Order: sequence, then C-alpha cells, then structure tokens
Amino acid sequence: MRQSRLSDHNDTSSSLGDFSVTIRMMIPGPVEAEDNVLAAIGSQTQPHYGAQWVELHSKTTSHLKRLFNTQHDVLLMPGAGTLAIESALTSLVPRGNSIVVLNNGFFGNRTAQMIEACGIHTLQVKAPWGQPFDPDDVRSQLKEMLPQAEADGHAAVAMAIIHHETSTGMLNSLPEMTAIAKEFGLAVIVDAVASLGGVPMKMDEWNIDVCVSVANKCIGAPPGIAVIGVSPHAWELIEANPSKHGWYLDLRTWHWHMQNWGDWHPTPSTISSNNVAALLTALENIESKGFEKHFESIEWAADCLREGMAELGFHLFPDPAHAAPIISAMKRRPDINSADFRDYLLQVHNLMIAGGLGELKADVIRVGHMGRAKEPEYIEALLEATRAYLDEMDLPYSIYPKSR
Ligand SMILES: *Cc1c(COP(=O)(O)O)cnc(C)c1O
Repeated sequence: MRQSRLSDHNDTSSSLGDFSVTIRMMIPGPVEAEDNVLAAIGSQTQPHYGAQWVELHSKTTSHLKRLFNTQHDVLLMPGAGTLAIESALTSLVPRGNSIVVLNNGFFGNRTAQMIEACGIHTLQVKAPWGQPFDPDDVRSQLKEMLPQAEADGHAAVAMAIIHHETSTGMLNSLPEMTAIAKEFGLAVIVDAVASLGGVPMKMDEWNIDVCVSVANKCIGAPPGIAVIGVSPHAWELIEANPSKHGWYLDLRTWHWHMQNWGDWHPTPSTISSNNVAALLTALENIESKGFEKHFESIEWAADCLREGMAELGFHLFPDPAHAAPIISAMKRRPDINSADFRDYLLQVHNLMIAGGLGELKADVIRVGHMGRAKEPEYIEALLEATRAYLDEMDLPYSIYPKSR
C-alpha cells in the first residue's frame, strides 16, 4: 500500500475532512489562486448593484477589454464556461440555421453536441486530434458544405473555433481561421476558455464576434464567472435573431441591462461580488506584472517541464509547432500505466495532473501551467516525483536515449 499524504491530515476537526487538504493542482484548470485573490474572495459579500458595485464591475470589465484586446463590450456572467458558450451559440444563431464547427479534439466534439442540442445544425470540419487545420482544406470543405446547407434550408451563420483545444494541448490559429470565416461571410464564435490570459488575444484585429472565457483557467481566479466579449456585428445578429432559446441565457437580456440599468445594476440577476472581487484582483496581478512578462512566465514553465519530462521519456502529444504553452499534453511512456502514475503523484506527492480526454484517455497525460502551477517549485516537484515513480517501478529514466 502506498503511504498516502492525504491521510496524514485526517485528524482535521473541520467537517470538510479530506477536502481541507490542499491538493497541488497542475491540471488544465481550475487553478490555485494567489493569496491576494483568495483574500478577495473571502472578503464580505457586497450587493450586486449600487454606485460602489458599478465601479468595481466596470473596473473588472476594463481590465478584461485590455486582455481581450477589444474596444467593444465585455460582460460577466455567473457560471461555467460551458454556460457562456451555450449562451453565445443560441443568442447569435437562429434555430434551424447552421454553425460550422472546426473540430480537432474533445471540446470541438462537445461544441458540436451543444449546437445540436440547441436545435441548430452543425457542419463539421475535422482535423486529426493534435493536428492543425489546413487552411486550403477548410476552404474547399466550406465551398462544398455551405451551398448544400443553404439548399437544404439551414444556411450557415457562424463558425465556432476552439482556440486552445485543451484535450490535446493544441493552439488553433485564430488569425488564419477567422480570415476564412469572414471570406465566407460567417460570424466567429471563439471558445477561449483555456487561452484568455495564457497567450495574446486580439479580438478586434482578428474579427472575432463573440469570445468566451472564464476566471478560473489562465486568469488565475477561482471558478464562478464566465467572461464574454461581444462585437458590434455580433450585437446586430443577436438583436435580429428571431429565435428565443430562453431569457437568462439570451445575450439580449444582458445587453438590455447593460444599456438600461448599467448605471446601477449592470447584470440581470445576482452576481457574486466575492467572485468578481477575486477576478479583479487576479487581473490586477497580471497587469501589474505586465502581459508580456505574464505570458513569458507560462512559456518558461512549459519549456522547463517539457525539457525535463523529455529526459524522462515523455514527449509532447501535439505537433510541437502548434502546441500551446498553457498545458503540456504528453504521450504516455509505453511502459507505464497513466492512471497508476497519476494515482502515485496524488497519493504520495499530493500533486494532481490530468489524464487524457475521450479517445486519448489512457494514452496522454496533461499538465497545466496556469495559476500557481507555473511556479518553479511546482515544476521541480513534478519532475522529482516522476523520477521517484520511475525508480519505484524500477524503470530507466529514458526509454529513448538521446533522441525522440
Ligand atoms: C475547460 C474548458 C471548457 C469548459 O469550461 P467549464 O468552465 O468547465 O464549463 C470548454 N472549452 C475548453 C477549451 C476548456 O478548456
């Protein structure tokens, strides 16, 4: 039996039991927040309306506009990224029309499922998991698909793109793909859930119409708030959308409150002041360091971890030229069981990394470089724990000496 570090803490008197033990998270979100962010979320709850609130709310959206690189609207919606994506899809696109989904991973698949579940058709352009889209291939597929969809009575209105496909660690090229969408007259909806705050985003320059993210991945705050950037073109489409998929998720509702209640009650319903205060603090941390330096610290963590893990026989899963620095998705060494390895890291070293998603479940391990996980102590701890695991299993450090 492995000696579990978690059990050392069982004498806690808190009713949280084991939950009170902090797991060191090196997963693709949520992330461990900085101390001042945790202090902010622990401060007394404030009303979600009134002059003081409007100031805090608008400070937060101002920071986000700089992070999105947009001159236009950014709104805060309580909930997970998935909720905000559903809100974007259904607000923009009428029932019965189509959305083109660029699908090269688990979240591409999920977006297609969500679209279908909302009564909208999907037109899927696929690339193998971990591989980039070939622009010429996307163009030629659209040339066939779009007229056919129109002839069938469900014309395509938008393209959905996953920026950082977290299942494979791939960063899809937004400038290339959004340019293609615009050539074909499609609005662009981007899932930037796992990229905003991790790599540069240029929402206006890249012609993105709706861009969705969350507080709890690269921005480094606890979960609870989704953030949505909306272009003027998107507002036109949203206001003209004849379908109503509901009231709360309809961005028209949020737009109306921004415009008519913005000076005292900017959201239609309660939003956690605690979560917004934490989000604001995390954004201030990033800006006080500087965007460049912040992005560089993520790249540095990814480089160190990848170099160290390559020496131990773990190599990147995605095409390295298209790998996001935000997580490292690595192929399992063929001589280890990835579930056993992850269990060892958690039980013995209190370190949590992620396995693969979907078809990659057993064959890929994923390490996040967001939040505190990008700090040198975390990287060193994971490399040391990996060496210790190989020692315990009596395996050599490298199975591919010198070369890949
Ligand atoms: C995490 C993630 C999501 C889901 O976000 P939730 O907040 O868990 O709903 C969606 N897309 C991508 C690319 C993600 O990494």
